[in-house]
Amino acid sequence: MAEKDLYDEFETITNQLNDISKKVSLLKEELSKTLEENEEVKLENQNLRSHLEKVSTEDEDPNGNKLSDSRLNLENLYLKGFHICRPLYGARRDRNKEECVFCLQILDSDNDSNKKKKKIN
Ligand SMILES: [Zn+2]
Repeated sequence: MAEKDLYDEFETITNQLNDISKKVSLLKEELSKTLEENEEVKLENQNLRSHLEKVSTEDEDPNGNKLSDSRLNLENLYLKGFHICRPLYGARRDRNKEECVFCLQILDSDNDSNKKKKKIN
């Protein structure tokens, strides 16, 4: 009897080890997926930042001709689901959540400066 108990216990532990091994494999897969996604997001962030630099350089154009273009670019980025505000620039927006006040402020203020420029001209 005792030998049978020992054998049963051995089998239970073996099954548990198999389960754990499967779980570890799944976790490893998830981890590498997450790392891969992280790399993609980093790259995307880098692209967006260099895009922002380009856009803000265009903003400095004294004749202001490109201002509306860069505003459109920002608006497109925002509509595509990315933040264009300083604190969260390049981060993905949750499209199901409400609009980002900071992003909207940027879009609005650019609109205002366009209007002002038009009034001056
Ligand atoms: Zn934002």
